[in-house]
Amino acid sequence: MMTDQEAEAFTFDGGRVDPGETEEFRYPVTETYLGDPVRIPVTIINGPRPGPTIFLSAAIHGDELNGIEVVREVAQEWDHSDICGTLVCLPVLNVQGFVTQERYLPIYERDLNRAFPGKQNSTGSNRIAYQIYHNFIEPCDFGLDFHTSTRGRTNMLHVRTDMDDEGAARLARAFGTNLIMAGEGSSGMLRREATDEGIPTITLEMGEAHRFERELIDHALEGVRSVFAEYGIYQQETVRWPGWRTVIGDWSEKTWLRADSGGIVEMYYEQGELVHEGEVICRITNPFKSDATVVKAPFTGLLVGVLENPVVYPGNPLCHFIKIEETQERIIEAGSGAHG
Ligand SMILES: [Zn+2]
Repeated sequence: MMTDQEAEAFTFDGGRVDPGETEEFRYPVTETYLGDPVRIPVTIINGPRPGPTIFLSAAIHGDELNGIEVVREVAQEWDHSDICGTLVCLPVLNVQGFVTQERYLPIYERDLNRAFPGKQNSTGSNRIAYQIYHNFIEPCDFGLDFHTSTRGRTNMLHVRTDMDDEGAARLARAFGTNLIMAGEGSSGMLRREATDEGIPTITLEMGEAHRFERELIDHALEGVRSVFAEYGIYQQETVRWPGWRTVIGDWSEKTWLRADSGGIVEMYYEQGELVHEGEVICRITNPFKSDATVVKAPFTGLLVGVLENPVVYPGNPLCHFIKIEETQERIIEAGSGAHG
């Protein structure tokens, strides 16, 4: 795309980054009780050659850390001397949440990922979202937003996006995960609002909060490389095929298996594993390891997410489980290129 054109400057309120230049800075999005600025870290890499503009964002939920390392490594460790296009790297969007290691903002409307595209002269989270969106999302052609599971749980690396949107579907496939969860997402979500405004955006879910998980980070970096290949940002790379892929949506059979008794959970599988109908996924026992409640797979499926903190009350989620069709099951069992 745009190969006949000259590379253009990236501009935002208060600055510009010309082709062939990289800028690292902190951009104010709100203020503390002390009146001090709260600033998000931004790295903009404008390549020497024309191409698309893509944003990579993380920690919109402040305790979801894996994506921070993905974005930092792309921004700070990859060689950008020959790229076609512009990278807008936003490793920590929710600064207050990051500082306190909490998912949410410390203000009334707490979820920053329900405040997009944001609004000036409005509520606290809307103003923050507006500064981010107006300056660093709107100028982009598409984007990748990195998340993890909420604390106490973990999930396999997968994409969430609106597969009915052609641009988002192309981006989702290019990232090359085994699993794509299709759905437009909630109103106010960065990925939904950006996609609706013509900036196809996918969410990457990977692992658990409060951790750097090296294997997942490496897989996500491969995904970013594959996306860069798909859109010609990296012209020497090729798009990655993950070996098998399943797309699930509203039409799919999926469920959160929940605990029917309180107790301590012995989990026998990890996220990303295939479990056959009737196999025991986990056991819930009392402190004497007697009186076990056995939880079996209600159908053959993939464990997308599992709990990490092994204690439950009745009703607590144990795992996120999705049905896999027979043909897909054989492909997964053949293990061609599978990874969690
Ligand atoms: Zn999140």
